[in-house]
Amino acid sequence: PGAQLPFDKEKKTIVVLGTGWGATSLLKNIDTEDYNVVVVSPRNYFLFTPLLPSAAVGTLGIRSILQPIRYITRFKTRSVAVVEAQAEAVDPVNKTVTFSDTSDVKGLTSSTTIGYDYLVYAVGAETQTFGIPGVKENAVFMKELQDAENMQRRFMDCLETAAFPGQSKEEIERLLHVVVVGGGPTGIELSGELHDFLHEDLQSWYPELASSIKITLVEALPSVLPSFSKQLIDYTEKSFRERKMDVLVKTMVKEIKPTSVVLQMPDGTMQERPCGMVVWAGGNKGRQVTMDLMAQLPEEQTNKRGIMVDDYLRMVGAPSIFSIGDCTASSYAPTAQVASQQGAYLATVFKNLAKKEKLEAKLKVEGEGKGREVRANDAEVEATKKQLQRYEKALRPFHYTHQGSLAYIGSDKAISDLPFMNGNFASGGVMTYLFWRSVYLSSLFSFRNRMMVADDWIKTKMFGRDLSRE
Ligand code: FAD
Ligand code: NAD
Repeated sequence: PGAQLPFDKEKKTIVVLGTGWGATSLLKNIDTEDYNVVVVSPRNYFLFTPLLPSAAVGTLGIRSILQPIRYITRFKTRSVAVVEAQAEAVDPVNKTVTFSDTSDVKGLTSSTTIGYDYLVYAVGAETQTFGIPGVKENAVFMKELQDAENMQRRFMDCLETAAFPGQSKEEIERLLHVVVVGGGPTGIELSGELHDFLHEDLQSWYPELASSIKITLVEALPSVLPSFSKQLIDYTEKSFRERKMDVLVKTMVKEIKPTSVVLQMPDGTMQERPCGMVVWAGGNKGRQVTMDLMAQLPEEQTNKRGIMVDDYLRMVGAPSIFSIGDCTASSYAPTAQVASQQGAYLATVFKNLAKKEKLEAKLKVEGEGKGREVRANDAEVEATKKQLQRYEKALRPFHYTHQGSLAYIGSDKAISDLPFMNGNFASGGVMTYLFWRSVYLSSLFSFRNRMMVADDWIKTKMFGRDLSRE
């Protein structure tokens, strides 16, 4: 038989759903001495999302921003079970989770249900499409590794098709028109990276096509990057327009067709614009498994944005479930910074919980006694009670420390909003870009990733991006 779960019946079992920012930060910090830990996720790696747009245009190799999750779990004091599977259902009453192998190759067993004492629910979110016709069928997304690969393939396909002999000028212009939907940080960073790709590489490799390439960024709100300070919004929009990128604000995408995008313009009129590729970066939406879990607690879980948690990150209505990151609805933005701080916080919560539970068990034995001879004296009981109070006090609510916002906008420029002396320090330009690079390089998961990313940056500078099509 394969691995049996859980593997030590004396210990409580924590099931962790996900291998993203929240779950990985927990796994890095958790002490596995006290618990059986089982990780369930459809991907067996951690993805460093901030550099995904760079990987999409080939500045970085896709593998450079991944870290296999077993690189992290194998260094733990006790073995951690990693299961590549997708959680299909969580039963918060019976405390079970059902998961299935969703990969192409399946064995005779591909679905199972296990129990948990604590569940860490960190499945993230999926891309919001608002049910707009054609988004799923005709656009590419920018959330997962496969999205970056799809975008690269699609864009190279557009280029090679535009280079086909006899292609009309009109068709070349359509094929080389890229529409990015969403002026949030994902859409902005991707547009910046695409612009670099076009101007640093395509101009020399496809000189006859370069002048036909065009990027349009579409945002429904009155400005891009609403979470950044006003001067950085103006700086970004100005910098995009100077580089001949079309920024359409107060404009809503209403439909995406195979060869065009339908826009509702600020004056309410509709326009159809031909294009070769649409990248959809329209924000987040809860996963179906999350909606199903919340539906089982209709009285407590009333926020459609995601799971509501208390100050200790416990799911309201199901205190054995801790929920972190993008699948939650809280006052924090759905960012990697928040998710990773929450994951690290949970590691300390579990440490304290284990100590508290051990002391409670000790107190029970001391208090009840199993016969006079094992009964502790009053002084010992008092000492244990004091220790217990200390650990109860140590269970502090989660506190988020904002370290600032950074985004790359292309042409070796970045923007940053950093907390500074109870205020904010906003900056944009080439120095901020160097800062952006150093921050991301140092926050990459491992020395291995840092070496690979630094190496890719040097290779791209020296030889350009790889233009071969998979
Ligand atoms: P995720 O990191 O998305 O992880 C979710 C995990 O759950 C994944 O491993 C997934 O495979 C797994 N999963 C999915 N479904 C199931 C299931 N049914 N069962 C079990 N597991 C499941 N934030 C920043 O702070 N700074 C940035 O610079 C930044 N840049 C970004 C760039 C891009 C292109 C994107 C898309 C996001 C960026 N973010 C950034 C946001 C950041 O990536 C998210 O906020 C962060 O990933 C949230 O972490 P999480 O753990 O909640 O979810
Ligand atoms: P987002 O929600 O921040 O932005 C999506 C944008 O798409 C919104 O501004 C919305 O108005 C627009 N939109 C949606 N539908 C539209 C339509 N039909 N037509 C036109 N516009 C439409 O999403 P995101 O950029 O993917 O970011 C998600 C989260 O990840 C955010 O919390 C963000 O801060 C974080 N993130 C951070 C960074 C960074 O710090 N550098 C980078 C990427 C993502």
